[in-house]
Amino acid sequence: MVIKNKRIAIVGGGPGGLTLARLLQMSGADVKVYERDVNREVRVQGATLDLHEESGLKALAGAGLMDAFKKNYRPGADKMRIVDQHASIFWDDHDMKPEEDFGNEYFRPEIDRGPLRNILLDSLQPGTVVWDSQFLTMSQISNTWKLEFKNGKTAIADIVIGADGANSKIRPFITPVKPFYTGVTGVEGNVYDAEIKTPNIHELLRGGKIFAFGGEKSLIVSSKGDGSLSFYATSKMEENWANNSRIDFSNKAQVLDWFKKDFSAWNSIWHELFENVTTSFFPRPIYSMPLDQTWEALPNLTMLGDAAHLMPPFAGEGVNMAMLDALELAEALTNKECNDIQLAISAYEKQMRIRASEAAKVSLENTEWMHAENAIDKMLAMFGE
Ligand SMILES: Cc1cc2nc3c(=O)[nH]c(=O)nc-3n(C[C@H](O)[C@H](O)[C@H](O)COP(=O)(O)OP(=O)(O)OC[C@H]3O[C@@H](n4cnc5c(N)ncnc54)[C@H](O)[C@@H]3O)c2cc1C
Repeated sequence: MVIKNKRIAIVGGGPGGLTLARLLQMSGADVKVYERDVNREVRVQGATLDLHEESGLKALAGAGLMDAFKKNYRPGADKMRIVDQHASIFWDDHDMKPEEDFGNEYFRPEIDRGPLRNILLDSLQPGTVVWDSQFLTMSQISNTWKLEFKNGKTAIADIVIGADGANSKIRPFITPVKPFYTGVTGVEGNVYDAEIKTPNIHELLRGGKIFAFGGEKSLIVSSKGDGSLSFYATSKMEENWANNSRIDFSNKAQVLDWFKKDFSAWNSIWHELFENVTTSFFPRPIYSMPLDQTWEALPNLTMLGDAAHLMPPFAGEGVNMAMLDALELAEALTNKECNDIQLAISAYEKQMRIRASEAAKVSLENTEWMHAENAIDKMLAMFGE
């Protein structure tokens, strides 16, 4: 095994980095995960994640964590309603879909980010994750890397893996290729105690998801297991809209004002979302890696997940690709037939780029039609309606 006696540093403790750490530890590797978050109690924001049989769930099975997943996923949270801007329901699978259907390739069970992170963290040896370690830069010292963190600490590693997400600080050490703006920006909000704060939307959600389309805009709402909900209102905007608009995203009235103007044809039922957010709003310009990106494999440095292949969220593939990357990279690095780290990295990166590019292509196509006229017809056609 090429990683025997090698110190491996994974930068970033998201789903990709933690899955990789678990898989490598199962093979006896010496792994540390350097994570920016101050500790594991930091509340993980964002929508629920649906894991797919051939990728996210496959990686969890490889990591021996399917039992833990089945205890923590949210039966029924994958059920969806497709509505228009007036909240009129065009599709509702609440009474059609079974709650549990493991083994069916179309079953995409949902799990909140927090519980997924906890499952992965609990599977690691104590002390694997070094919290409060925001990576700043690194330099090569003969065959090793010296990593430097914002807290002033340093670490030495024989192999570094960038799993530090969309704005990866590791990626520029591998390739100068940058993501491009897709033309769509989202505004994310989170509402705690949704049943009380946003009763109308809570009722429409029924513990699942809402996909709303109208006038070249979309609004995706997801319920979460802790009684909160998250939502993303997405629209075609210029790249620097968030800055140029001068909206204060911590000010509910200003963001609601924007929604009323930009989503002017939308029913006022949606306003309760904007009036009741618990945290600040987050503007999210949506980027994608070029589909034809490539680079030469390096001897002791690689990356996975969003760091390697950021893509729009509209195919639900991001976390699934990150976890499958982890599985395939772990397999490459622990392959007994391979005796060269660079060859192992090269083999992993070649197949990862092809696979991620196919997923990103679908995500980009979805971004396009979900923000075009007749998005709802297209969505319904996908369900054979
Ligand atoms: C609005 C939105 C909705 C989404 N919806 C879905 C969905 O429904 N389904 C889906 O599959 N995907 C979805 N995604 C994408 C999904 O969240 C990502 O693809 C996935 O989380 C990628 O995993 P990762 O481990 O590569 O990176 P991340 O989850 O981004 O994790 C990166 C980790 O690195 C840490 N980090 C960052 N910088 C540093 C640093 N300098 N030093 C140390 N640590 C650092 C971060 O704190 C984080 O813990 C969505 C994304 C967005 C923005």
